[in-house]
Amino acid sequence: MAESFEDLFDKIVNLSKRRGIVFPSAEIYGGFRSTYDYGPVGVLMLRNVKDAWWRSMVQLRSDVLGLDASILSPPAVWEASGHLANFTDPLVDCRSCGSRHRQDKLDDPTTCPTCKTKGELTEPRRFNLMFKTNAGPVENEGAVAYLRPETAQGMFINFANVLNTSRKKPPFGIAQIGKSFRNEITPGNFVFRTREFEQMEMEFFVHPSEADQWYDYWCKERFQWYVDHGIEESKLRLRPHDDDELSHYSSGTSDVDFLFPWGWDELEGIANRGSYDLDQHAKHSGQKLEYFDQPNNERYVPHVIEPAAGATRTMMAFLMAAYDEEIVNDDTRTVLRLHHRIAPYKAAVLPLSKKPELTGPARELLATLQPHWMVDYDETQAIGRRYRRQDEIGTPYCITFDFDSLEDKAVTIRDRDSMDQVRIPIPDVAGWLSEKLV
Ligand code: ATP
Repeated sequence: MAESFEDLFDKIVNLSKRRGIVFPSAEIYGGFRSTYDYGPVGVLMLRNVKDAWWRSMVQLRSDVLGLDASILSPPAVWEASGHLANFTDPLVDCRSCGSRHRQDKLDDPTTCPTCKTKGELTEPRRFNLMFKTNAGPVENEGAVAYLRPETAQGMFINFANVLNTSRKKPPFGIAQIGKSFRNEITPGNFVFRTREFEQMEMEFFVHPSEADQWYDYWCKERFQWYVDHGIEESKLRLRPHDDDELSHYSSGTSDVDFLFPWGWDELEGIANRGSYDLDQHAKHSGQKLEYFDQPNNERYVPHVIEPAAGATRTMMAFLMAAYDEEIVNDDTRTVLRLHHRIAPYKAAVLPLSKKPELTGPARELLATLQPHWMVDYDETQAIGRRYRRQDEIGTPYCITFDFDSLEDKAVTIRDRDSMDQVRIPIPDVAGWLSEKLV
């Protein structure tokens, strides 16, 4: 384990930089606060987080359909959704040092967390978090557009399109993964809170009488998803919101929280939103957004259960949950014990030496695996150091091609977690891996 829990945060940030997982953005220009670039290893991991979500939420179900809606949208959408009026955070300024803070996140709302001066924070002002821009070459009110602060509205405004073009009827869902933008007052804690981030959201449309049961279902389902992908249950909790935290239209919201180094914090919110969103868009657009149940001759506006997760934030939680250090032969081994579905590379092919007689057939083996999985290849440095590098990026299996391989046509496969090694005939490697990586 990292020496202390707080320590873990720095270790993850350092590891991310050192191993190409996450880089601070625009670093060669001195950086751009709280924006991040996902490096060669991080891009694979982030993609795996999103693929794992899509697999569970869309691929393995027959009642959820996908969508990829636009990021830019006209003010009318945000007028109807209530974001223009209400998507605000309480902003306070410190008169003493000039720093700005989100009042609802302060431990002590009378004291500036930057300069510690008491009684110098201004009254809160409502600060709208949406990024406003202009579409087209003319800057006037008619050209105003917003970058979406959530992906959810894409599903509501396409409700009728999806209903009319698919053969679905409630209960069914529309799922989307994509970028969202919020002009956060106090971004921070690495990729936990950034102004540009990725979300994984699903709107599940149900008959009003079934909303409560589906809400319970999705709370359980979403909690279990994190457990199934390798986060210990002791680091997760499902926290129902108190009544005073609920938005006026919500009859229930629960967060899936993760135990971050600074305490419990949200990974995902599951909300029972009633018919609020469809009602609002129906009212503002003048379009009917309802479902006609022909056999029962019943027309109704479906209620919505929304599991809304952050992909980038979830990736950070996976990194923290998987990080481990252990002493091996008087040396500290750092290992990311990631679930294989989340691990950036599933395997690495490592020829024992750089000699062409080994690298040639090792690359041939690599070529047989690449159509199926992301497989790394590394022929530099001593084998022990190469194993450590793969451990640090969470590669479940290292496949070593040695001089004996030329004779026995077999390779050694080392398990990341146990470090056990097995000898497997080369033609069986792909089959062996596919059994392990189900
Ligand atoms: P918070 O209270 O932390 O600002 P929220 O409750 O407004 O977040 P939601 O609108 O429910 O967040 O968004 C759903 C999910 O999107 C969150 O659970 C989180 O994982 C992710 N998310 C929201 N804002 C950010 C952000 N600024 N950076 C990274 N991820 C975010």
